[in-house]
Amino acid sequence: MEAVVQNGFCIGCGVCSGLCPAKVLKMDFNKYGEYNPFRSSGCLDKCKLCLQVCPFYSQAEDEDSLARTTFGHIAGIKHRKETGYYIKSYVAYSNVNNHRTNGASGGMATWILETLLTKNKVDQIVCVTPNNDAERLFRFAMFTDVEFIRHSAKSAYYPVEMSSVIKEVINHEGRYVIVGLPCFLKGLRLAQKKNKRLRERIAFTVGLVCGQMKSKHYTTYIASLAGINSKLKKVDYRGKSPQKPAGNFFFYCLDENKNE
Ligand SMILES: Cc1cc2nc3c(=O)[nH]c(=O)nc-3n(C[C@H](O)[C@H](O)[C@H](O)COP(=O)(O)OP(=O)(O)OC[C@H]3O[C@@H](n4cnc5c(N)ncnc54)[C@H](O)[C@@H]3O)c2cc1C
Repeated sequence: MEAVVQNGFCIGCGVCSGLCPAKVLKMDFNKYGEYNPFRSSGCLDKCKLCLQVCPFYSQAEDEDSLARTTFGHIAGIKHRKETGYYIKSYVAYSNVNNHRTNGASGGMATWILETLLTKNKVDQIVCVTPNNDAERLFRFAMFTDVEFIRHSAKSAYYPVEMSSVIKEVINHEGRYVIVGLPCFLKGLRLAQKKNKRLRERIAFTVGLVCGQMKSKHYTTYIASLAGINSKLKKVDYRGKSPQKPAGNFFFYCLDENKNE
């Protein structure tokens, strides 16, 4: 709390909260509309696991070193300083199941998740999905059904946190794939070093490029620019028009009074 959160470095991933052995870290919104851990009493002072798994703790292992341990030994793996480790690199879009039309970009994230499930490489998909709660419009969730994965396509420019899914993975056997922003996945890799179940059960991670995190207030702000000031039920940050280039996307929202 002192080193990371109070200095404004916390990204709100929830890895610390998911792993805390004393269960004293609870994720909630701070006054800026960002997720932070909040601490109750009972912290095991000498434990420090929260710091060891924090992607923004200055003394945590860095991405290059984590990647070397995870991927460096794979036969045929290549490395460039711009990209890190890779086997092959593609530019692609999905041309099946309306992934591209319904996706944020080319629908490849949804295609990869679906393929891992249907080819029996994983048992559960962990992704971000719309949530029926005006105070938490999106959340991380687990699915075993392709329809739910498709329903979760597109980008949520909204805070989400992983504490509950980390606990679920620890408590339930299975092979999981988790989609996330790079700093979240860094936290997860650090957590895997500390927790054998996470190491064994998280079979794949799917990273999204990230230019920036948004606070919860960002959505309220752009909805108000569109003339909607009441509680929101649904938002789409990446609406696509068939007549326009995919990069020219629009914002859509629906409030509780059915104003759009
Ligand atoms: C906060 C944020 C910032 C981004 N910034 C950039 C950028 O600057 N430049 C760039 O090129 N791309 C950026 N992206 C990625 C881009 O918006 C698309 O998500 C990506 O190109 C994948 O598109 P797709 O059509 O393959 O994904 P889709 O097939 O639409 O699937 C997207 C998947 O991502 C999951 N997801 C959505 N939101 C989140 C989230 N917040 N955290 C974890 N998982 C999520 C969904 O559940 C879904 O499974 C950003 C994404 C996010 C969420």
